Amino acid sequence: MPVKGRLDLDRFAEALANVGPRRLRAVDMTGIGEAFLHKGWDRALKMIRDRFPDATLSMNTNAILLDVDKFKRMLEIGIDNLTISLNGTSRERYRAINQADHFDTLVATIHEIEAYYRSQSHHPMQVVVQVLDTVNSPEEIATFLEWIGIADDSAVTFSVHPYGNWGGVIFNYSCSDCYPCIHLYVPEVSYEGDVYACCVAHAVHDKEFLIGNLFKDRFDDMYKGAVFQGLHEANMNGTIHKKAHLCSTCNH
Ligand code: SF4
Repeated sequence: MPVKGRLDLDRFAEALANVGPRRLRAVDMTGIGEAFLHKGWDRALKMIRDRFPDATLSMNTNAILLDVDKFKRMLEIGIDNLTISLNGTSRERYRAINQADHFDTLVATIHEIEAYYRSQSHHPMQVVVQVLDTVNSPEEIATFLEWIGIADDSAVTFSVHPYGNWGGVIFNYSCSDCYPCIHLYVPEVSYEGDVYACCVAHAVHDKEFLIGNLFKDRFDDMYKGAVFQGLHEANMNGTIHKKAHLCSTCNH
């Protein structure tokens, strides 16, 4: 029986037990949602690590709740990759992207983590701080990298990620030249098994993306169905922002 709400760890353990250990090569805790919001985040990750000792275990975080203690716990669990989504290169850019004012806190956290990690002799986890191109100019990125003062040979590295839609809020305009949008082909599944054609769609508000239900429909039929094909056609001819309200305000 699907349930709504916070992930129950007993159910999570049951779900893990249903996945053959040799079939899973990588677990990527990324996408919409923030793992540290769950009080049992570390127990969930430990369950994954114990069940899939050879899988690559990666995690993305906005780092608002990250601190050195959590970082140490991630090292104990055996996380392979950690990406910190700083995104902005200044307080103003960060605020414009995230509609929040955590830039200074995040920079302090990154410095604390980098200092701790530098003090260790072993660096099994790859740690990357990500900023976005396009919304930060090349000059702003270069200035930021110099300003933050973390050496090139540090175990904490920086990456400039191509700007794409990940559910943030940047500009409030619609852009018919933005399409086709690749996210239309990244489906999202709700607790009830409802399948939405776009990973940015909200399960309550964005029913125009609802293409079927995994408990009732075959995925192949959903893909060939009228709803998805209509969205696909509009995406291809650059009019999806007229068909789906979310696309008209989305910062793709
Ligand atoms: S809402 Fe529309 S524009 Fe935004 S990611 Fe989804 S398909 Fe793309």
